[in-house]
Amino acid sequence: MASKVYFLPWDRRGELYGFLKKAGVFSHVKARQYLAIKIHFGEEGNDGYIKPEYVAPAVKIAKEKTAFPFLTDASTIYVGKRADAYHHLLLAEKHGFNIANCGCPVIIADGLRGNAEEKVEVDFKHFKNVTIARDIFYSDSFIFLNHFKGHEVTGFGGALKNMGMGCGSKAGKYAMHHSSKPKVKADKCKACGQCVKWCAQGALKLVDKKIVMDADKCVGCGQCIVMCAFGVFGLKWNEGTIVVQEKIVEYAAAVVKGKKSSSINFLNHISKFCDCFAMAKNPPVMEDIGIMAGNDPVAVDQASYDMVKKVYGKDLFKELYPDIDPSIQLEYAQTLAMGSRDYELIKY
Ligand code: SF4
Ligand code: SF4
Repeated sequence: MASKVYFLPWDRRGELYGFLKKAGVFSHVKARQYLAIKIHFGEEGNDGYIKPEYVAPAVKIAKEKTAFPFLTDASTIYVGKRADAYHHLLLAEKHGFNIANCGCPVIIADGLRGNAEEKVEVDFKHFKNVTIARDIFYSDSFIFLNHFKGHEVTGFGGALKNMGMGCGSKAGKYAMHHSSKPKVKADKCKACGQCVKWCAQGALKLVDKKIVMDADKCVGCGQCIVMCAFGVFGLKWNEGTIVVQEKIVEYAAAVVKGKKSSSINFLNHISKFCDCFAMAKNPPVMEDIGIMAGNDPVAVDQASYDMVKKVYGKDLFKELYPDIDPSIQLEYAQTLAMGSRDYELIKY
């Protein structure tokens, strides 16, 4: 059966509060529930993240339902301002995510050093257990606020990505990324040293002015792919994106298992790379489109993907990443009964 996905055009984003109520994405939220509003607070220097002004209407609705909403994210495995709770909270505050602007507190779900986690047994193709950020695990229900944009490992990142990769603790993120170790074309290396500085695992070093990767140390975070301006690093098609997309979906399925959630995708500032990278040069590559919302994350991501294709006139993500098929995540999530790729689009 087709899932309902609601659409608000970007030029009417001031009507977000009424749109979210109409879309029914808070229908699952109950009184006195701890409601995790999972979001990405942005990385320093990267301004593609969802702004606090769009978070406030969601918090307002949650509080009207007398739930206990909080904004949350978990630590990253790469160098940056989100690698521990201390710096992550400072960055969230700097970007305006606080009680004054949003109406609720911020909680970093995997604790000070990213190791507050719960191991959960599952029975999937890639994982028999997953490691979820603890305060995500102990939340009663979820609203996922997702910035829909390109992604260097999965083609695009939306609801499933935020739900799966975003909710893993550091150990969980390592486990998901592990298959995406980049291939290295060392002959293209200009010895600028940029990637060495950004590899948190110490897996890269320059030897005779050419880059050398220690595959045993590499965790496949993808940071070097983005940081090298000379195209030295790339994904291995089979070992990379397919497995990582499926692993992310398995985590997503584990995070929401037995709980209710809804997904709200923001199709604005649609950039080539994800919001994790501390770089100013991640500009939008097309015009802003609008906001998609629904209770089925697969349908919300599928509708977002289709809308980008429609507005851009062709498959933007295929153009950005010819070697990645981002629909793998959608198909696998449908296989795991997380939702349906079949949807009915309802314009607000
Ligand atoms: S070599 Fe690249 S992918 Fe591997 S850990 Fe370092 S930055 Fe991440
Ligand atoms: S960023 Fe690219 S060019 Fe610079 S050292 Fe690393 S691999 Fe070489």
